[in-house]
Amino acid sequence: QSVTYSSGNWAPFTDNVKNNHAHQLNLITLLTNDIEHEKLYFDIQPQVNLANHGIVGGEVLIRWHNEHLGQVSPGEFIPLAEQTGLIYKLTDMLIEKVFSWAYEHPQALVNQCLSINISALDLLQEGFARRVIDNVIKHQLSAKKFTLEITETSVFDNNETVHKNVKQLHKAGFKIAIDDFGVGYSSMQNLVALETDELKIDQFFVMNLLNDPQSQILCRNMIDLSKALEITSVAEGIESEEILKLLRQWHCQIGQGYHLYRPMPPVKYLALLVENDLPLSEPVNRA
Ligand code: C2E
Ligand code: MG
Ligand code: MG
Ligand code: MG
Repeated sequence: QSVTYSSGNWAPFTDNVKNNHAHQLNLITLLTNDIEHEKLYFDIQPQVNLANHGIVGGEVLIRWHNEHLGQVSPGEFIPLAEQTGLIYKLTDMLIEKVFSWAYEHPQALVNQCLSINISALDLLQEGFARRVIDNVIKHQLSAKKFTLEITETSVFDNNETVHKNVKQLHKAGFKIAIDDFGVGYSSMQNLVALETDELKIDQFFVMNLLNDPQSQILCRNMIDLSKALEITSVAEGIESEEILKLLRQWHCQIGQGYHLYRPMPPVKYLALLVENDLPLSEPVNRA
């Protein structure tokens, strides 16, 4: 075993580390190639109005199946795409795919919205909003039907480019959701400054609702905070009926989770919308 030294820190250069580096490099090469050839696709996870169980929309979740690696989870390849700058192309490609799909299936947007995850890095890019707006116009779609989900980072604080992009997207009709709220970096100030439309409570709190009193307190307060600020509250990671009941009791507006619906291929989502014969009541200041 050899040891590499760098600026006072050292790390044993084990086979494990070597394999890990090789693995990452391999992933990057394959991801670059598959993005180039538009081989990534998406699932949709239905979002439910917790007051009446009607579907109010869906979250688009990117998927990657590589012929050598098999299925790779976004939790693994999105951070890699962010580190290598591949994320810009990936986001553009995904948005293009979603808009084309929505154009071909207008029924997907009748009384429904679609949420798309974007990276914080996208918003740090000059001209990002303009590109998305031009694209929605090109596909003759209404921006009001789309929510862009972002996970905050400290870079957002007083960042002019981020604010300019968000303002422009808002003006065009897009909604902004703060994803994974309550964990990592979440700023109350940004919640207001970015004129947030939706607050997505991180699934960590939701999953722990039954056995962790602190998660209960935080969850309830995030719901109340949303209400006070007139922001739509969304809970993700609902895995049981008991959790669903609690959230409904606390007047959380929208829910997502395996107990309701798992992410599914777009074709299945469309079929589900047809089946969804529950009253499509006013979708909580959404559509
Ligand atoms: P996220 O945006 O917070 O998405 C929610 C994740 O939780 C999804 O995982 C979803 O499949 C999963 N999930 C939903 N309900 C449940 C549940 O009841 N239990 C459990 N255990 N999990 C549930 P997924 O699809 O693996 O995505 C992981 C993360 O990758 C996303 O977290 C998001 O940050 C990122 N991501 C996914 N698609 C995209 C994309 O198109 N662009 C970007 N930039 N990031 C994406
Ligand atoms: Mg999300
Ligand atoms: Mg996220
Ligand atoms: Mg989340």
